[in-house]
Amino acid sequence: MKFATRAIHVGQESDPTTGAIMTPIYQTSTYAQTGMGEHKGYEYARTGNPTRTALETCIASLENGKYGLAFASGLATEHAVLSLLSSGDHIVSCDDLYGGTYRLFEQIMGRYKVETSYVSAASVASYEKAIRPNTKLIWLETPTNPLLSLVDIRALARIAHRHNLLLVVDNTFASPYFQQPLDLGADIVLHSTTKYINGHSDVIGGAVVTNNKTVYESLQFFQNAAGGVPGPHDVWLTLRGIKTLAVRMRQHQENAISVARFLSEHARVEKVYYPGLPSHPDHELAKRQMNGFGGMVSFQFKGTLADVDKVVRRFKVFTFAESLGGVESLVCHPASMTHGSIPKEIREARGLTDTLLRLSVGIEDIDDLLQDLEHALS
Ligand SMILES: *Cc1c(COP(=O)(O)O)cnc(C)c1O
Repeated sequence: MKFATRAIHVGQESDPTTGAIMTPIYQTSTYAQTGMGEHKGYEYARTGNPTRTALETCIASLENGKYGLAFASGLATEHAVLSLLSSGDHIVSCDDLYGGTYRLFEQIMGRYKVETSYVSAASVASYEKAIRPNTKLIWLETPTNPLLSLVDIRALARIAHRHNLLLVVDNTFASPYFQQPLDLGADIVLHSTTKYINGHSDVIGGAVVTNNKTVYESLQFFQNAAGGVPGPHDVWLTLRGIKTLAVRMRQHQENAISVARFLSEHARVEKVYYPGLPSHPDHELAKRQMNGFGGMVSFQFKGTLADVDKVVRRFKVFTFAESLGGVESLVCHPASMTHGSIPKEIREARGLTDTLLRLSVGIEDIDDLLQDLEHALS
């Protein structure tokens, strides 16, 4: 089955007891058992819930993976993946990454003596140079957040496997519609399903997919042992959202291309970051490893921080807010919002300046979006 069909049907067969087309919300904490050790596959809802199983099965299929697990947030998912490490282990990560991931590495994992080295996202050689005898994971986001650089997943998978490391890819920005990291050699792919997968800005959630049975069993053990599971209603909303992932992503991309072109020609824009523009340094890599370029566009505004503040106040269709991947367009100021937890010197050294704005281009009518940008930037 093709992607759009799997998004609607995999894990979501009609309910065996009633024939209900939609997966029921199994709002229960426990399940009746017939006798000792005899039950229908479910004992307690932290360990398993049929609504959650449907989502886990569907997301695994969309990532071309065997095993999926859902969590209460993207960060709870990342924490589960980090539970594969022990005190004294080391991570090599790209330097342009979600601020919350950086905070988790530095302020939580750091306390457990797990150290992280950050390397320039696009430089393949720098990852290998940073590997130490105690390195266990290479951690990537591609496209990166918010500068939308690409990392060559295939090349990094070769390096990781040569050194017996696991390659983790945060695939939140591309969504499985535009990129399948497991097919390119990654061992673990994870999502903040809060973003494109749910797509309607009404749920916080996360998921991880792998083909590695040992990894899966460890993550599943952690899911039950630490308990960061999503509730059935959130899972059900995510399942409802996932059904339209393919059509949404196509429209996000179509609108993002128009927005990126519009900004490239605008007098008050210094620089546009969108991998779909032929001028983007990773455009060729994007064509090779992705099936599209996604819906995120960042740009550097010509002016001061005070000018940027005026711009964000003038938007009428775009909403000034954190997050991304919903049907509605959002504009975010990474330096003070999503990436506020990264110290200013570190941020600026990575090109994440105070005049950078990030757009999550929604699926509204493109004419309204361009008009809104024209007005805000004028
Ligand atoms: C939002 C986000 C996360 C964190 O996910 P939550 O669902 O907010 O916990 C992780 N990675 C990326 C790339 C994100 O955009």
